[in-house]
Amino acid sequence: MEGTPEEADLRDSGLEFVSPIELSLRVVRQRETFWVDAVVKVSVVLECARCLKRYKEDLEAEFKIVVRRGGGPLPGWDEEDMKLVPPDAEDVDITQEVHDFVLLSVPMKPLCSEGCKGLCPVCGADLNEEECGCRRERIDPRWEALTKIAL
Ligand SMILES: [Zn+2]
Ligand SMILES: [Zn+2]
Repeated sequence: MEGTPEEADLRDSGLEFVSPIELSLRVVRQRETFWVDAVVKVSVVLECARCLKRYKEDLEAEFKIVVRRGGGPLPGWDEEDMKLVPPDAEDVDITQEVHDFVLLSVPMKPLCSEGCKGLCPVCGADLNEEECGCRRERIDPRWEALTKIAL
């Protein structure tokens, strides 16, 4: 299944999408209860938190929902974790879930690569591309005392 960011109501997310949203669903049915495993994949452009370069990140989110057709929530389940639909429903809208889980899968601190060296705090050079020769301390000496706890 494929959709557009518009369909998942992600226009206002501030994200720049560079692929359609790919949704794969696995549904296990037990009478009128449907256990749904969903995987959402989409590519976005993010800015690396270290070197500030824009790069493509492939987001992937997995979530589960339980759909009950007719009847109330399953005993022992939180009503919030279920979608209750009328007995004659033929489909169920999961736009909200796709929306929420895509946003949740955006890393708090995006990195263009695990080993990104970032920018030199002294001269601003991109250390992935050049070694500028500045002297950089790993820890600001003024902070050193704060990183130790005397016992
Ligand atoms: Zn980077
Ligand atoms: Zn430098």
